[in-house]
Amino acid sequence: MKRETKKKVIKTIRIDVDKCNGCRACEVICSSFHATPRYSSNNPERARIRVIHSPLRDLYVPVYAGEYVAAECAGRDKYVIDGKEYDECSFCRASCPSREVFKEPDSGLPLKCDMCESDPTLTEPMCVQWCLADALVYEVREEEISEDENRGEIEIGLEAMAHKHGWQKILETAARLAEQD
Ligand code: SF4
Ligand code: SF4
Repeated sequence: MKRETKKKVIKTIRIDVDKCNGCRACEVICSSFHATPRYSSNNPERARIRVIHSPLRDLYVPVYAGEYVAAECAGRDKYVIDGKEYDECSFCRASCPSREVFKEPDSGLPLKCDMCESDPTLTEPMCVQWCLADALVYEVREEEISEDENRGEIEIGLEAMAHKHGWQKILETAARLAEQD
């Protein structure tokens, strides 16, 4: 039987670590853009991008918030870059129970980069626009995926969040965030 497929638009931000100077403008504008009301405050704790800093090497690595995961990893990755070993969770994009990063400070709900899609007038995400060092480059491409794959991704993500936080909290927070639009 022929599987139904559809085109999925994949939006990515290519990160050039060599160009990042650690100014943290990306964190500031992301948190400000997502504040309620929009631009009313800025707090990097609410940003969906965080800049990991290695003082010894003067290295900065921007990391975007990805999917929420309900369980801590049983096995973890260690990174050694130019002889410096990084914490196991340093470059992970997930919001998970192991750490506080990528969680909304008030509610504890997971934060995820949404590519700033709540403002359809933007030609590029805010962090890309504010990165004057050109360390962040916005890219868009199309991929063929099956209908089943598409539905599965959405359902798994929602179920994991509901299991951890409950539907009531998710709906209340969604309503609060929607007030800004
Ligand atoms: S705005 Fe650009 S240069 Fe500044 S910290 Fe973010 S990624 Fe790095
Ligand atoms: S694309 Fe938008 S939501 Fe994602 S990190 Fe950048 S400013 Fe934040």
